[in-house]
Amino acid sequence: MDSVTLAIVVPCYDEAEVLPSTNATLLEKLQSMVSQGLVSKASFIIYVDDRSEDGTWEVVRALSSPVVRGVRLSRRCGHQCALLAGIEAAFDDCDACVTIDADLQDDPDILSEMVRRFREGADIVYGVRRDRHTDSWMKRTSAGNFYRVMRGLGVDCVSNHADFRLLSHRAVSDLLQYGERNLFLRGIVPQLGYDQAEVYYDRRKRMAGYSKYPVRRMLDFAIDGITSFSVRPVRMLFWLGVIFMLTALGIGIYAVVRYFQGETIEGWTSLILSIWFCTGILLIGLGIVGEYIGKIYIEVKHRPRYRVAEKT
Ligand code: UDP
Ligand code: MG
Repeated sequence: MDSVTLAIVVPCYDEAEVLPSTNATLLEKLQSMVSQGLVSKASFIIYVDDRSEDGTWEVVRALSSPVVRGVRLSRRCGHQCALLAGIEAAFDDCDACVTIDADLQDDPDILSEMVRRFREGADIVYGVRRDRHTDSWMKRTSAGNFYRVMRGLGVDCVSNHADFRLLSHRAVSDLLQYGERNLFLRGIVPQLGYDQAEVYYDRRKRMAGYSKYPVRRMLDFAIDGITSFSVRPVRMLFWLGVIFMLTALGIGIYAVVRYFQGETIEGWTSLILSIWFCTGILLIGLGIVGEYIGKIYIEVKHRPRYRVAEKT
């Protein structure tokens, strides 16, 4: 592989404050990769303005050049959609694209290592954080638990990797076949398959501006992530129902014994039995209905069933 044209995709929401310095850093990095012969001169940076309200677009326009492009969305669509918009806009003109946040909390210095891995044959290269000491306690614990729950629910995702990754042209082309509205790229990308690699880095603090992921948005994001990849929570309802039924059985035996011992208040036996039994039936019913809805849910996503990587 001689010349790799790289696109660096940067989603921006209210990032006017950091953009000039981000752009300078990225340009310098790109320049050095060009002079090392890692990427071609045609490589470029593309800023996706997620309809900011602080003049980000004006900054992007001012920075535009043959190497710097800008795309502005018609309304705020959120981080994940902004990423996809950038990837799609870069698709035709690049061999690989890297997505990185505008605040450069993710270390742009590892871009060269990512490109090297790509040249060695990886289609997907994840930027993975070595540790999370720069995060608040809240963010650290919630993130740790989130990845644990995701894996527990059978969703394949890379721990401590956010949306800092390199995708090859064919990986992007496959990604664009996923027509779902509820985008959770961290879950979709591992499903693409091919050869995947990881590159480690230390995450820094945000240089300027504010985080667009307060706790509430983070929780929403986590719930979206889980529910767009797993129908297991529904199956849990079914098993919960089974547990209730078994409990009803146990309580039934106990209640009958107490009844014959004459130690119960009038009506207690039937009441306690019906509570556990009916709740169990209801939960099992919900679980069964949910199981079908889950199937419909998976079907309507129309995700590709398989992809051919190579042919002889
Ligand atoms: N972002 C976006 N649209 C949004 C929210 C965030 O394009 O609705 C961008 C934001 O400009 C940044 C990236 O997504 O480039 C990650 O956001 P941020 O750094 O605020 O998240 P954190 O690092 O605090 O999790
Ligand atoms: Mg950030």
